[in-house]
Amino acid sequence: MQNIRAPKGTKDVLPSESHKWHYIESVMRETCALYGARELRTPIIEHTELFLRGVGDTTDIVQKEMYTFEDKGGRSITLKPEGTAGMARAFLENNLYSDTQPTKLYYLNSPTFRYEKPQAGRLREHHQFGIETVGAYGPETDAEVITLALSIFERLGVKDLLLHINSIGCPKCRREYNAALREYLKGYLPQMCETCQGRFEKNPMRIIDCKEPGCRQIVKGAPRTIDYLCDDCRAHFEGVKAYLDAAGAEYVIDPDIVRGLDYYTGTVFEVISNRIGAQGAVCAGGRYNGLIEELGGQSIPAVGFGMGMERLLAVMEVNEVKFPVPEGPTVYFAAMGDRPRVKAFELTKKLRDRGVSAEFDHMDRSFKAQFKYANKIGAKYTVALGDEELDRGMVKAKCMADGSEKELPIEALTEYFI
Ligand code: ATP
Ligand code: MG
Repeated sequence: MQNIRAPKGTKDVLPSESHKWHYIESVMRETCALYGARELRTPIIEHTELFLRGVGDTTDIVQKEMYTFEDKGGRSITLKPEGTAGMARAFLENNLYSDTQPTKLYYLNSPTFRYEKPQAGRLREHHQFGIETVGAYGPETDAEVITLALSIFERLGVKDLLLHINSIGCPKCRREYNAALREYLKGYLPQMCETCQGRFEKNPMRIIDCKEPGCRQIVKGAPRTIDYLCDDCRAHFEGVKAYLDAAGAEYVIDPDIVRGLDYYTGTVFEVISNRIGAQGAVCAGGRYNGLIEELGGQSIPAVGFGMGMERLLAVMEVNEVKFPVPEGPTVYFAAMGDRPRVKAFELTKKLRDRGVSAEFDHMDRSFKAQFKYANKIGAKYTVALGDEELDRGMVKAKCMADGSEKELPIEALTEYFI
């Protein structure tokens, strides 16, 4: 019989890697605390309708990438393909708008599912960290969200990243822009991919984001959203830049960014590395003032981003970031014989109960092999336990760093390590 393998495009996080995730997670949590954001955990499954409305039916996610199935009750359910729609739903459903605004929410390590062609930097299950600040319109909020992302990169020691910003305007600007874009694209319609032909009437801006090489070529000369901003949107964008300047953030204006999701308005941004291959966007986000209303709430503004944790790890690897390595146990008990083995077990338990990490032999190894093993797992002290030690009531604790030994009564052993 053949072994069962993990589904294509999914990845195990092995024990030799998980400490890296823990480190990233702890820095993210610390940074969110500094910025006053609190965690909101939402389910991995949502009603499919949420993403149809909240992400938009002309997006790649909805058109091509969702894991959708019917559950046993006949409901259409979808595995989360992004974080924001679920956060907005939970915000509304739990009346978080009745609290004093703004509401700063984050999610961490959120499993995200997209049926994509697996390749470097593109998985079918990946994990996202993200923040959503809900309730505030001003450009300082956009800038704060962006600086939170930059602050995480800085604290993690990641360089080689560049912030790209753009504005795609509000529905008012969009009408004018869409008209200009249709005018430009009209002649190319037969050469565009089928999906984009369908987008032409409904949402032509999505065509700018298409990954098909033919469409990418066509949109190179297309009108740019930034040239069609109304006065309010232009002022808002200038504001975002001024606040980013005040924060000392470096950025480039990138008129090519329109973002793949329908709910964006105004500011859009990506943080990109050019050192991890073609899929270089580590973090992407923007303002989406239309989303909460779209989901049936009042008109409440919001701004946020999603950060791909696997891509972040990849950038950290190429930056040769040093991860804190998990420590070995404080004490290793090397025991031979029935009585000493029971004593080693008892002492290990006692130490662990007092918050000191300890380990004993599980493999019936020889004394010599036990010491070798203690060395391998990085034990700070080893204690040899044989019948003789038990009879005398005395043991030697050996410091592995300098080889020095200290003789101690067994009864006082736990105190010595605490
Ligand atoms: P792309 O243009 O690369 O497809 P996207 O616009 O679909 O990106 P977002 O929806 O903005 O991506 O997701 C936020 C972040 O999540 C991305 O910037 C990226 O870091 C990460 N991400 C998205 N899709 C994947 C994936 N399939 N595998 C790994 N990481 C991903
Ligand atoms: Mg995508």
